[in-house]
Amino acid sequence: MALALTLPPVHLGPELDELRAEVRGFLDAQRRAGAFEPACDAWLRGYDPAFSRALAQRGWVGMTWPARYGGSDRSDLERYVVTEELLAAGAPVAAHWGADRQVGPSILRHGTEEQRQRFLPAMARAEVLVAGAMSEPDAGSDLASLRTAATPVEGGWLLSGRKVWTSHAHRADEIVVLCRTSPPGERRHEGISQLIVAASSPGITVRPIRVLTGEHHFNEVLFDDVFVPGDRLLGRPGDGWAQITAELVLERCGPDRFLSTFPLVRAFADAVGASADPSAAWAPLGRAVASLWALRRLSISVAVAVAGGRQPGTTAAGADGTGRSPEVVAALVKDLGTRLEQDLVEVVRLAAPHDPPAELTRLLAEGVLSSPGFTLRGGTNEILRGIVAKALGAR
Ligand SMILES: Cc1cc2nc3c(=O)[nH]c(=O)nc-3n(C[C@H](O)[C@H](O)[C@H](O)COP(=O)(O)OP(=O)(O)OC[C@H]3O[C@@H](n4cnc5c(N)ncnc54)[C@H](O)[C@@H]3O)c2cc1C
Repeated sequence: MALALTLPPVHLGPELDELRAEVRGFLDAQRRAGAFEPACDAWLRGYDPAFSRALAQRGWVGMTWPARYGGSDRSDLERYVVTEELLAAGAPVAAHWGADRQVGPSILRHGTEEQRQRFLPAMARAEVLVAGAMSEPDAGSDLASLRTAATPVEGGWLLSGRKVWTSHAHRADEIVVLCRTSPPGERRHEGISQLIVAASSPGITVRPIRVLTGEHHFNEVLFDDVFVPGDRLLGRPGDGWAQITAELVLERCGPDRFLSTFPLVRAFADAVGASADPSAAWAPLGRAVASLWALRRLSISVAVAVAGGRQPGTTAAGADGTGRSPEVVAALVKDLGTRLEQDLVEVVRLAAPHDPPAELTRLLAEGVLSSPGFTLRGGTNEILRGIVAKALGAR
């Protein structure tokens, strides 16, 4: 069965070109000043709160949020352009990424007025940094089997359980925890909620899980009868599954799903251009750029659907102009995009000039070491293909 997608035409327009030029100018100046060097997978590995605050000062964190919550009232497409430039430059954006991409929008949509005022302006200043704790030792792809649970007590909840792979929990001010707040009903997805937990709360232990390179971004996080005040429940009790599904759409459809290795491709193109015989690399480079362009088109169309007022995570097909719900298209973007990110590393590895420049060698090493995680994080590609297959079956 074929999946037909009708993608709406996208015209980014001259105002967006101006914004793009402004961001590029800022990034060039930062690079020249030595504030960062381009890195692969910088939205996970490049953690620099000072850099995030510099972006925030320009209104580029939480930029789509209303001004009364510290945002800049900019459009989703404007945010898309800024995001794209930051990723293409390999800039260190990990410190504010989770808040900007999904936690802030989720608080805006589901939070109380008090939560919006408490968290959003501080997040938009990149002063409050967040981590997301969903995965557990026995609950990754099958997230609904999670065991971390919060029981109601006077004034709030007592939270206990164990999370793994929680990126940057050791640096976060707030950890958004997906947990069970009541037993499952007929559907296992019932009874799950989200709590915004202060990382400094008594009873939390954060232990590093180091990756092969020795880098530390992953953690195991233990919650031992952690008291969480009632006003830190995000949304209604039991709505956590729908909320996290909507967050994951935002996590899966953006340019972060195909640009993690773009700085490597750029360094490769530069090295090819400077080599004595560039023609040998034209074909692989051309294929890479063509694939990136197609993915970008798909990704922008989801951003347009979201900008058009569609709530991510809804399941009705067609009304977003993509022919499919954002959830399905986001699954496609992530499946195709992350495989492309991995393929690009291979393209460069096989076609790199002999005696490559030092920066290309460094970026290639970063790409090789980071790429296994691309198809796992944010939901594995096998699971995403299941989402797409179910949508096909429902036609
Ligand atoms: C770089 C990185 C950053 C991460 N950051 C975070 C974070 O900040 N917070 C957080 O909560 N989690 C995070 N994760 C965890 C991530 O969400 C999980 O790794 C992912 O959901 C898969 O879960 P798992 O590792 O338990 O693998 P499993 O679910 O055990 O899957 C193992 C393999 O089996 C396959 N598989 C499982 N079920 C099926 C099925 N039904 N059909 C077909 N194949 C199947 C999977 O596709 C996979 O290949 C991160 C992971 C990575 C790699």
